[in-house]
Amino acid sequence: MSTKIPSFKLANTIEVPQLGLGVFLVEDEQELTQSVLAAIKHGYRHIDTAAIYHNEPLVGEALQTSGIPRSELFLTSKVWNDAITYEDTIAAFETTLKKLKTDYLDLYLIHWPSEGYFEKWRALEALYEEGKIRAIGVSNFEINHLEQLMQEAKIKPMINQVETNPYFQQTELHDYLVKEGIQHEAWGPLGQGKGTVLEDNVIQELAEKHQKTPAQIILRWHLDRQVIAIPKSIHETRIQENREIFDFHLSKEDLAKMASIDKNQRGGADPTDDAWLAETTKMSLSE
Ligand code: NAD
Repeated sequence: MSTKIPSFKLANTIEVPQLGLGVFLVEDEQELTQSVLAAIKHGYRHIDTAAIYHNEPLVGEALQTSGIPRSELFLTSKVWNDAITYEDTIAAFETTLKKLKTDYLDLYLIHWPSEGYFEKWRALEALYEEGKIRAIGVSNFEINHLEQLMQEAKIKPMINQVETNPYFQQTELHDYLVKEGIQHEAWGPLGQGKGTVLEDNVIQELAEKHQKTPAQIILRWHLDRQVIAIPKSIHETRIQENREIFDFHLSKEDLAKMASIDKNQRGGADPTDDAWLAETTKMSLSE
């Protein structure tokens, strides 16, 4: 196996493996188990799940089966939008721990800036101070959400996990996060496999130049921008392919070419869509 996956250091000095495995939409037991075990086999130690993915128990089981000591894993989950109060959030966290069969999380995120996110943050701060979470952060927060949160917060979020891919580079938010010392983490790093980003001419050209695949060029681009990437795949060949990105870098010129293909084109939900956010608070976790 190739060398260990390197880390980025958060504001509180916790190290996060730069590349992780995403498990959104993987609810089938066999698929989930195979994908987590394949990732572990190829040296991944960072797994990104969420309460709303309905697969925390399967992730917990697969990680136990892997036999990797808990201390070598980096486990992320997220509190769903139906938790509105401080108490809801503490209860949601305890449920997540039980489902994942662990007694702490490496990273816990507020999934969306929905109703009650100040309260949710207070609960995350308390859990962090109790030592039950090694790092706390947010997801899908825009600059204005972060500014409002930071006015009230005792502890600054350490990570913001947001949709980011070469067609939605989030340049303004990225620069803001760098300035504030908040680590940028990309969800949907490959454009969720639904767009044409993997077929983009510039990316194909760079793939040819570096003798890599388009997915590897995109993932290397995230890391060369100091952004964490958590691509999802259930296929061992792709899980391995996505990991073989630590033997090259994109040059300054390559990065300038990548910057030129941004379309500022969001593929997922819009965190400023308050009506959608309000709907999601009614989305049940027990389905
Ligand atoms: P992604 O960009 O990781 O795309 C996944 C898809 O890309 C796969 O289903 C497959 O079709 C394709 N793919 C993967 N490897 C490939 C390869 N080597 N070559 C060609 N195609 C390949 O999208 P995602 O799963 O939505 O995002 C990654 C992770 O981010 C999720 O699994 C989840 O953990 C997290 N996420 C978080 C949020 C949030 O709101 N915080 C939202 C969505 C996803």
